[in-house]
Parts: sequence; structure tokens; C-alpha cells
Amino acid sequence: MLITNGKIITWDQPNQILEGQAIQVIDDRVAEIGPQDRMIADNPDLEKLDAAGQYVMPGNICAHTHFYGAYARGMAIPGPAPKDFPEILEKLWWPLDKSLNMGDVRASAEVMLVDAIKHGTTTLIDHHASPNAIDGSLDEIADAVDEAGLRSVLCYEVTDRDGKEKARAGIQENVRFMKRLNSGGAAANRIAGTFGLHASLTLSDETLEACRAANPDGEGFHIHVAEHEADEYDSVEKSGMRVVDRLSKYEILGPKTIVAHVVHIDIKEAELLANSDTWVTHQPRSNMNNGVGVAPIEHLLRAGIKVGIGTDGFSHTMWDEWKTAYLLHKVWNRDPRRFSGMDAVQLGVYNNAALANKFFPQAALGRLEPGAFADIIFVDYHPHTPLTVGNLPWQILFGFNESMVTSTIVAGKVLMRDRNLLTFDEEAVTSNARQRAPEVWARYNTFVPN
Ligand SMILES: [Zn+2]
Repeated sequence: MLITNGKIITWDQPNQILEGQAIQVIDDRVAEIGPQDRMIADNPDLEKLDAAGQYVMPGNICAHTHFYGAYARGMAIPGPAPKDFPEILEKLWWPLDKSLNMGDVRASAEVMLVDAIKHGTTTLIDHHASPNAIDGSLDEIADAVDEAGLRSVLCYEVTDRDGKEKARAGIQENVRFMKRLNSGGAAANRIAGTFGLHASLTLSDETLEACRAANPDGEGFHIHVAEHEADEYDSVEKSGMRVVDRLSKYEILGPKTIVAHVVHIDIKEAELLANSDTWVTHQPRSNMNNGVGVAPIEHLLRAGIKVGIGTDGFSHTMWDEWKTAYLLHKVWNRDPRRFSGMDAVQLGVYNNAALANKFFPQAALGRLEPGAFADIIFVDYHPHTPLTVGNLPWQILFGFNESMVTSTIVAGKVLMRDRNLLTFDEEAVTSNARQRAPEVWARYNTFVPN
């Protein structure tokens, strides 16, 4: 396949915007980027994908999300509104994830994957929970990801909140799924696994130890950390240690471990994250929605910590997440110089790509160059001022919108062309979820505490 007539944003370092060039895709990789006239002359029989003057760029990457959360949209929480994040967990997420059966898990994932394709998010790092449908849930999600054609890292969140047996089942699900992936398969370059943990506040020492023992050395974990002060106080009470110190003790940290949020960590904890090369992800829309505070992202970057950015189950509109971070840190610090467009690109492009590449080391992600994975989107953006490499971050922050994504390609396969979804029927996916929602909500109402 030859992608022609695009303005190619490579997200190389330094970034380039190429005109008059074409991209040749062979199998799941970019084979060549070169002068369009010559490439067409050299490959007269190749199928052409005409970008018609649109921007052609790497697909976006989401560093932390929850495919299981789709049924939360429009759902009523009975009684007084939750007053803080622990109550949001108890009154919304925990009774909701208990309500999911295997079919709901699949349907929720499909809704989220359609959303990702439409909005140009091509790699997603998911964190799954369905305490009444644990065994095989990662297979179910992997099948949906495979059908969608997207790229994804999956895990099951181990927790003690539903008792020892379900904690053990969660551990088993992670172990079983990663073993299955190691045995290969067609989607081996598109689907990866990691070991999920909910958060320190729902994990006993015994379970942390069991997780460490079950996960081979060098493999990482994916866990929420200090999203709310409650996580820190719980940890201090349980262990005499703050959360990151406690995770360090159980050897949960490391270069393949992702800790989401870190809103309430202290300087010593930041040092432990930096020294262990652990990844942090920032989800500003979620943090604002839950009223939990603002993670000190600029300080973490200065401390040498690698920070990526995710949606935490919000719509997979990554530029919206960049925009939120860009605005949030300015108002929080009452200083418009804070969190620049370059910071947004550092998290959203370079760090997210490096993180995703930890799980898909076979080829480069998040940039267009020969040999890279062909994960590509077309963006129908018409700048009314000159768009340059220098001002691209701000053109994106103030001008780009995910509804401008018209085509989405992952691993060389076209998943959406001119806004037509080719792997999923959106109406079928949404109507299936809509039909299931009343039963999910009815079950939720039996679990929710009043
Ligand atoms: Zn999360």
C-alpha cells in the first residue's frame, strides 16, 4: 500500500513535516518514506490510499484506560452524591464492575474500541476489573481488540476487596493470559499483557507477595498509586510505609511497571520511582472529575521520571487529554508559563511511545520512519496560520480535534476509511451495549450500598 498526497508529521526527534512524499506500507510496517513521484513510478501496481492533502501522522497512544467502564455513562448513582474518591469507588466503580458478566465485558470493550478507532487512538494500555467474570475475561477483551484491529496491553486488576478467592482468581487470570500470549498467535505483535493490581489500599501484604511471586522477574505491573490521600493513609496504617515505599518493598516497581495518577506522593516516593525507572501516567480529566487534586507532573519530569498520559476510561480522545493537562497545570499554579505545549508532546507523543514500545519491542511506535509499525491516522485539519514543526504542539492544542480524524490504520490494516469503520459496525456495537445496559444497571442497583 502506498499512502499518497499527505502532509506527513513524523514525530521523529526532531520532528519533521514532509510534503510531496509518500509512505509505502508492507505488512504491518512502514517500508519507505520518499519522494511521491518516484515511489509511484517505482510501484505502479501498488494499491494507493489517497490522503487528499490531509495530515498523516502516527496514531495516538493511551497509557492508561479501563475498557470495562462503558456502562457508567448515563447511569444514576442512588442517594447522596459521593463526597470524595473513596465514595466514588464504593458507590460507582465497585458495584458496577461486580455487575458485569462476560458478555458485558465484551460489549463494553467493543464500545471503547470503536471510540478509539474513530478518534485515532491506535494503542491502548487497559486495566480490567470484573469480579464476577474473572476467568477468561482477558481472552474476551483480547478477542475484541483483535477483531477491532487495534493494539493493546491488557491486565486484570488483582484486589482483596472481594475476598481471598477472587484475589487468587485475579492473579491466575494475569498469569494464564500472559502464558497464552507467550505461546504466540496471529495477533502477537498487537496484543500484550502485563500484571494488574488495583491499588495499595485494597491489597494485603500477603496478596502483594503472591503477585510478586506469580509474575516472572523483569515483567512489570500496572497499578493505581496515591490517586487520593486515602491510599497513602491506608498504607501508613497497614504497613508504616507510604504507598510507593510499600510497593518498592514488594518489588512491584521497575522499568516495565506503570503507576497511574501519583497525585499525593511525596518527594521520597518520587525518588523511588525515578531510581527504579518506573513509569507514571497522568489522567487529568479523571483527576478533575474525581476532585482528587493535581499530580506534580513538571516536578516528576524534572526528577527524571518518565510520565505518560492516559484517559482513565474517558473517551479515547488523546488531544482532549493533552488540552486538559495544558490548561489544568496553568490554573492550578496560577501561572500561564506552566506545562507548555512541549510538555504535552513529551508526555503524549514521546513518552507514551517509549512506554508502548516496552510491550511491543518488535518495531518503533508513535513515529513514522522506515521499519516502524504502520499505525497511522489522517487528520482533516485546515490551519488558518502557517503550521510549522515549531508551532505544531500549539496548533494541536488549539486547533486539532479528534473528530477531524478521518482514517485510522493499525499494523498496516485500514480500520477506518473516510470515517467509515471497516472492522466494527458502530450501530451494532452500540445497540448491543444499549440492550444490555438496563440489566447491568439493575444488577448494579443490587450491589450499590445506600
Ligand atoms: Zn484508572
